[in-house]
Amino acid sequence: MINLSKEAIKRLKSKIKGEIVLPSDSRYDEVRKIWNAMIERRPALIVRCAEANDVEPAISFGREHGLEISIRGAGHNIAGNALCDHGLVIDFSTMRNVRVDAEKGRAYVEPGATLAEFDEAAQSHGLATPVGINSTTGIAGLTLGGGFGWLTRKYGMTIDNLVSVEVVTADGKRLRASENENPDLFWAIRGGGGNFAVVTQFEFKLHRVGPEITAGLIVFPFDQAKQVLTRYREFVESAPEELNVWAIMRKAPPLPFLPGDVHGKEVVVLTIFYIGHASQGEKLIEPLLGFGTPHGKHIGVQLYTQWQKAFDPLLMPGARNYWKSHNFTELSDGALNSMIEFAGKLPSPQCEIFIGLIAGAANRVPADAMAYRHRDAKFVLNVHGRWDDRRDDERCIAWARAFFQASAPYASTGAYVNFMTEEETDRVTAAYGANYDRLAQIKKHYDPENLFHLNQNIKPSPRHG
Ligand SMILES: Cc1cc2nc3c(=O)[nH]c(=O)nc-3n(C[C@H](O)[C@H](O)[C@H](O)COP(=O)(O)OP(=O)(O)OC[C@H]3O[C@@H](n4cnc5c(N)ncnc54)[C@H](O)[C@@H]3O)c2cc1C
Repeated sequence: MINLSKEAIKRLKSKIKGEIVLPSDSRYDEVRKIWNAMIERRPALIVRCAEANDVEPAISFGREHGLEISIRGAGHNIAGNALCDHGLVIDFSTMRNVRVDAEKGRAYVEPGATLAEFDEAAQSHGLATPVGINSTTGIAGLTLGGGFGWLTRKYGMTIDNLVSVEVVTADGKRLRASENENPDLFWAIRGGGGNFAVVTQFEFKLHRVGPEITAGLIVFPFDQAKQVLTRYREFVESAPEELNVWAIMRKAPPLPFLPGDVHGKEVVVLTIFYIGHASQGEKLIEPLLGFGTPHGKHIGVQLYTQWQKAFDPLLMPGARNYWKSHNFTELSDGALNSMIEFAGKLPSPQCEIFIGLIAGAANRVPADAMAYRHRDAKFVLNVHGRWDDRRDDERCIAWARAFFQASAPYASTGAYVNFMTEEETDRVTAAYGANYDRLAQIKKHYDPENLFHLNQNIKPSPRHG
């Protein structure tokens, strides 16, 4: 256990505008909670930054006291790297401002902002950029790992829309990085996670979206899964990029538009999102209804911000989560068969298998344009192992692992770092593929001692040095 003197804490306090939360504080347990309830860690102190100037004193304090340092955006990451045991957390939960310059089409975002806060601010000007599908996710972690969502087909990954960042480096320097300033750092940060520096501001390019879009669900019986997914695969080949359709297999939640006897049964759900004119959307969506005999559908015009929160009720914090993921360039029969097999033996009512479609703009960026390199990925498969009772840990984790193995032969190479669990460090090199060596060089330049190692870690070059 680390012993920090009251004087040392007082000195740190005098250097920052934010607050320090210690294990002795009554709020400590609340402040150290993160989204995945499986992660139980007890930091020695949590520095809740109020401004970018607070970051350098926090880093220096960590160094002086030999503490591990973790960085927390909105605390959503499955691996739980936002927290550390006995170390120092640089916590951005209270730095959440989003400023939009509508004329320039830019958003300037503090690192504690959630997707909901980002979307609300941008949509108040009829603007948006691609981010994830669960509004309580943090913009920081999502962006640093890549970021994809409903708008990705049309406008690319979140990092494809990142214009600049302001950071504090491991040696306490404040820098800006963009295509023109510290371009190596900017290259690495776009997909390289929290390895290189602490980001204190993100600048994004925004696009005209909504405010109304067409979206909703079509729910099919599970015994029609093969037929629905096969036709889905054909359909998305030629669907316009304004239309996105994801496929989800899970037990049906008690949705009011579904007959009561379907609730709790395995189903296949096509999840639809369209940003063009509503009447055109209707025509485009129509064929999907004929992929099988639906149990029910709920599709209509709604606010983009509303749709961005549509999945929140299924993804509330506090549950136990173990996720796995693969990228796919195509959905082969073998891939579909393994998905259907494992969706037929879901170990808890909250577990699900989803196929996210990202084909489009993201595929037109060269693989070496930035750290994130999976430019051939058309689909991201996510295995959501999710349950409430710790006694189910073994069973649910075993299911997720077995499915991950069974579907691996059909996946493309690489991995999305934002969906990797803590124990998947051996996949980090694969995740960056041919970009890894350049990343390791940049890491050596900006963080030679690997101070920022609580992440999907890129070791300073030489690779194993
Ligand atoms: C329910 C749910 C839904 C999701 N949906 C999507 C989705 O649709 N699309 C998608 O792309 N991803 C999705 N994700 C994955 C998500 O992008 C990652 O979990 C991401 O890391 C979350 O960011 P955060 O800031 O909330 O996480 P945190 O846990 O706070 O941070 C994650 C890591 O990012 C780094 N980091 C955070 N802030 C900073 C900073 N300011 N400077 C430097 N490093 C920092 C740190 O290494 C930290 O450990 C989802 C995750 C969950 C749990």
